[in-house]
Amino acid sequence: MITIKSTHELKIMQKAGQITKAALLAAGELVAPGVTTRELDEAARRVIEKAGAKPSFLGYGGFPATICCSINDEVIHGFPGDRKIQEGDIVSIDVGACYDGYHGDCAATFGAGKISEEAQRLIDVTRQSFYEGIKFARKGQRISDISHAIGAYCESRGYGVVRDYVGHGVGTKLHEAPEVPNFGEPGHGPRLMPGMTIAVEPMVNIGTWKVKVLPDGWTVKTADGSLSAHYENTIVITEGDPIILTAVGG
Ligand code: MG
Repeated sequence: MITIKSTHELKIMQKAGQITKAALLAAGELVAPGVTTRELDEAARRVIEKAGAKPSFLGYGGFPATICCSINDEVIHGFPGDRKIQEGDIVSIDVGACYDGYHGDCAATFGAGKISEEAQRLIDVTRQSFYEGIKFARKGQRISDISHAIGAYCESRGYGVVRDYVGHGVGTKLHEAPEVPNFGEPGHGPRLMPGMTIAVEPMVNIGTWKVKVLPDGWTVKTADGSLSAHYENTIVITEGDPIILTAVGG
């Protein structure tokens, strides 16, 4: 069931979103050669707990950390740990925070030191594809209008858009209906209504869309070993332009 949030609920979700974005930026700021992914995790956790929120991912289905940290050909769901970030790595950080019972969810990819032009272009296209998608995140459009805009933007630039994992509704649960794919034909799926809150999150590969899950049961990598980037925000559908809930704010 797709839940429609009240004005009161949306105020709480905005606060949750702001905390989540602050945690993402705190971790992202630390991305540099020689830093361990655990240090990123600790930074995000500090921000969330200091704000009186809880890390949404910690313990979710047994996930052991506050952030997902996925480097280079890792797409999503990597574990933070002792791994040291290297010069030229691209580091995708995904984080969720729960405030007063409501979740925020956002992600971005950060470069360590000097990164290749092809890596930078991948990051830029992935981020822009989110904005292309939310041009269709408007009352009366269908979910797959967002999906199509994201997929077409990336695929026309030669990239593979991950199909096995998709965006989702967000609210009192981290993952709610509807699913929000990043590919496909327009004109399908539920119609968007004011008060719907969804996480739009393109995962984009330099190579094909195909991915594999590592034996740890979590870490998802590109099947062809190509670089992958991620960009995500939680948004709310309104009577007019969508509002990004996972935004920096006071
Ligand atoms: Mg998400």
